[in-house]
Amino acid sequence: MMRLPRFRYFAPRSIADALAIRSDAGPDGAYVAGGTDLYPNMKRRQQTPKAVVGLSRIAELATLEERGGQLTLGAGALLSTVENDLRVRRDYAGLAHAVAEISTPPLRNMGTLGGNLLLDTRCNYYDQNLEWRQAIDFCMKKDGAICWVAPGSPKCLAVQSADTVPVLIAMGARAVLASREGEREIAVEDLYRNDGIDYVTKRPDELLTRILLPKPNGWRASYRKLRRRGAFDFPVLSVGAAVWRDGPTVTAARLVLGGVASAPIRLSASEATLTGRALDAAAIADAAEAAAGPSRPMDNTDFSFLWRKEMTTRYLARALEDLRSPAG
Ligand SMILES: Cc1cc2nc3c(=O)[nH]c(=O)nc-3n(C[C@H](O)[C@H](O)[C@H](O)COP(=O)(O)OP(=O)(O)OC[C@H]3O[C@@H](n4cnc5c(N)ncnc54)[C@H](O)[C@@H]3O)c2cc1C
Ligand code: SF4
Repeated sequence: MMRLPRFRYFAPRSIADALAIRSDAGPDGAYVAGGTDLYPNMKRRQQTPKAVVGLSRIAELATLEERGGQLTLGAGALLSTVENDLRVRRDYAGLAHAVAEISTPPLRNMGTLGGNLLLDTRCNYYDQNLEWRQAIDFCMKKDGAICWVAPGSPKCLAVQSADTVPVLIAMGARAVLASREGEREIAVEDLYRNDGIDYVTKRPDELLTRILLPKPNGWRASYRKLRRRGAFDFPVLSVGAAVWRDGPTVTAARLVLGGVASAPIRLSASEATLTGRALDAAAIADAAEAAAGPSRPMDNTDFSFLWRKEMTTRYLARALEDLRSPAG
């Protein structure tokens, strides 16, 4: 049985207290929300914080509310709360679907939206217990010197694998980060860095407090995910798609790949291909073809990486097919 290492647990009831405790803990601290990612990582000794700041008692972090016509989701909201919220289901069906694709119902009753956005990157050589990793002399992401996926690589290539991220970026969602110095708001897209070790731009002491969804006017979003088991599995290729339309004409598109790099990948060429056209079969085929180039999965998750690359065009086409009916 894998046991947790020893650590001190704090259970603040306000954001201010959480920020203060986390800031005082310095590099030995970590936030935990549902713990469905952090605690398994701690059991595998991938992360060993000495002071863990629990967020589940901070009521303010868990609220979903409409502000100025846009829906704001607390980072501490349970995945099941987001999935079942009637406003999310009505106006942000692509996001509701992405959340419903995460793991299983018990895990969605524990895991949070914020924890999903900040999920650790994944790799077959890293998502192993301590003894397994010790046997291969570890790897660059933790305790080792080399990348076993690409020994010549100067950086870790572990994969961004959170289901909500591609669709939130496609929608143009924004994130609010709090620290003792105050708050800052950034595009969710700007939260990620293409580096398997240093994969978020958020400072360690910053708390993700809320996610701001754009007004649900004139656009629709969808999400498609490739995984081995339909019951539950992490994505090894995923597509978030959003299109804005004026009548039948696409006025803007945002298309995002997940599961193929350490950060989500914007498909700019596919987006440009769609703009100014009707979302018909020919436009979808052209956009799908343009997605193959930027999709460069590595051999460090499930399935052959060549097959995952090949599937990119099909999954993008499916995500766009989901949006063919008029904007709602
Ligand atoms: C069996 C299994 C299957 C899974 N399947 C999937 C899947 O299919 N798709 C998927 O996307 N994920 C999956 N997950 C991963 C995980 O359960 C989810 O991503 C979940 O949303 C994580 O949320 P959490 O609240 O439990 O995160 P935690 O474990 O609490 O935290 C995750 C990380 O985020 C940080 N953090 C959390 N909240 C905040 C905050 N508000 N501010 C700053 N930092 C914060 C923590 O410090 C930690 O580094 C799976 C996990 C397991 C164990
Ligand atoms: S991509 Fe390389 S360095 Fe990163 S976790 Fe995998 S083996 Fe380790």
